[in-house]
Amino acid sequence: MYRTHTCGELRQAQIGQEITLAGWVHKIRDKGFVLWVDLRDRYGITQLVFDEERTPADVLEKAKKLGREFVLQAKGTIIQRTSRNDQIPTGDIELLVSEFTILNPSLLPPFTIEDETDGGDELRMKYRYLDIRRDPVKDNLIFRHKVTMEVRKYLSDQGFIEVETPYLIKSTPEGARDFVVPSRMNEGQFYALPQSPQTFKQLLMVGGMDKYFQIVKCFRDEDLRADRQPEFTQIDCEMAFVEQDDILETFEGLTRHVLHAIHGVDTGAFPRMTYDEAMQRYGSDKPDIRFGMEFGELNALAQHGDFNVFNQAELVVGIAVPGGASWSRKEIDAWVDWVKRPQVGAKGLVYVKCNEDGTYKSSVDKFYDTEDLAKWAKTLGAQKGDLLLIISGDKAASRNQLNVLRMELANQLGLRKTDEFAPLWVTDFPLLEWDEDSESYHAMHHPFTSPKPDQLSLLDSDPGAVRANAYDLVLNGNEIGGGSIRIHDKEVQQLMFKHLGFTEEEAKAQFGFLMDAFQYGAPPHGGIAFGLDRFVAILGGQETIRDFIAFPKNNSGRDVMIDAPAHIDKDQLKELGLKIDLPSS
Ligand code: ASP
Repeated sequence: MYRTHTCGELRQAQIGQEITLAGWVHKIRDKGFVLWVDLRDRYGITQLVFDEERTPADVLEKAKKLGREFVLQAKGTIIQRTSRNDQIPTGDIELLVSEFTILNPSLLPPFTIEDETDGGDELRMKYRYLDIRRDPVKDNLIFRHKVTMEVRKYLSDQGFIEVETPYLIKSTPEGARDFVVPSRMNEGQFYALPQSPQTFKQLLMVGGMDKYFQIVKCFRDEDLRADRQPEFTQIDCEMAFVEQDDILETFEGLTRHVLHAIHGVDTGAFPRMTYDEAMQRYGSDKPDIRFGMEFGELNALAQHGDFNVFNQAELVVGIAVPGGASWSRKEIDAWVDWVKRPQVGAKGLVYVKCNEDGTYKSSVDKFYDTEDLAKWAKTLGAQKGDLLLIISGDKAASRNQLNVLRMELANQLGLRKTDEFAPLWVTDFPLLEWDEDSESYHAMHHPFTSPKPDQLSLLDSDPGAVRANAYDLVLNGNEIGGGSIRIHDKEVQQLMFKHLGFTEEEAKAQFGFLMDAFQYGAPPHGGIAFGLDRFVAILGGQETIRDFIAFPKNNSGRDVMIDAPAHIDKDQLKELGLKIDLPSS
């Protein structure tokens, strides 16, 4: 037996007992006549003590040669500590070692295994197995496990069956590029890794599985935006014989269960907002509703004077920043400059100070009188002491710019509290979205999403106006889940493909299997997928999903620990029937 106990569980009750522990040398303090070693495992740290009086001389001598991260098995008696350490749960006791075995020595680790490490990102990723020994990373992985278990428990209790779907498949379009795998047995042909199990879960519904889920890896070859991983995990779900409301209720239930199980919070029923409303009130389809600063439109109140910037704008839209009236001119100017940066792209920013004494001071005092400014303040829900910030121009662009500003203000004002959870559903997304580059419509969600049945006829006349039975679950300003009611009718699916620019042959070649399946009694169905990595990160009160993934890739999609991707040798290429000019080096 390697150990009788773990390094995290010993207390005063075990004083006097003979104990064996195993773990890593966390820290050594050598005072000459006495030596302490902090022994660490997944469960905690226990102090080992060796001293001249009580430890056999050869054991003490051997202990003096220990190094950080050596793996030990240590036997001895639990004794009371003379000075207790109330920083750790085992701080009342220590193990007086009578004998120990070095199970494995260790090289000096390239960074310290501490909560605050001296290792930079790259180094930590290269030695991720050492990084995982650090509490913050280890705790995140354990946290992820807990969330995952709660998800499985809830869904299984609701009658969902976890079914695995294949990874070596054909393209499933979710708007990214495919990762492909060459087939040795079918020279010149390739599998695609799933961007999601979308088509398979729909086929499971045709197969009568009724309620499916899977915690599953998805693969998307996207230009890596901040905090995206080329492989990531979804909680993928599908149900048959359901309408949108059934799905929202079921997965609101899941989310509430997880929030309650993990944090003991009950959020109550989730607000629901249409996409159009979310864009109007927050300029975003994933609004953070933990704080106010809702948008107010001022066209009617501001387009009557000589201020041409507003007069010519499609939209004049503003927010009220709590307490902002006390900001100095310099502070306000800094925000004006901030929104003009190319990343935000606003042409300018109009401000109005709503002073405590009831007066107003604005950057457009030349054009508007107090009565005007008071009306704006009222529309934006401002209190005395607030600052109005107003953007104008093209509707979509202004909303987007004001959203970026609102979020940054909230960050800086500390309004995005990580221990507060504000979920909501955003519904009725547009079915199609115009793509400037290709000058064509793309599916906003994916091609299997059903248009609202009464809007089918609009597909020809006004495609951009068609709304879909598609919804997102938003948590604290992040999209954590998205799904839709699907098309389950061959003709409608064909029509969709046509509108997405597929020829009949192309649609048949790529998705013939699905349309065939629809001819054999496909039930009405719909579903959703949660991004597990992000869900876990938000629940954990953190920003980056990488911190919750055991072995993540870096920003160029590389695993720097195993050094992947890598070249493969000529023979392997030949076997796969691939001809590639390898860079000479
Ligand atoms: N397959 C979709 C996605 O990956 C989710 C869904 O529609 O259920 O976003």
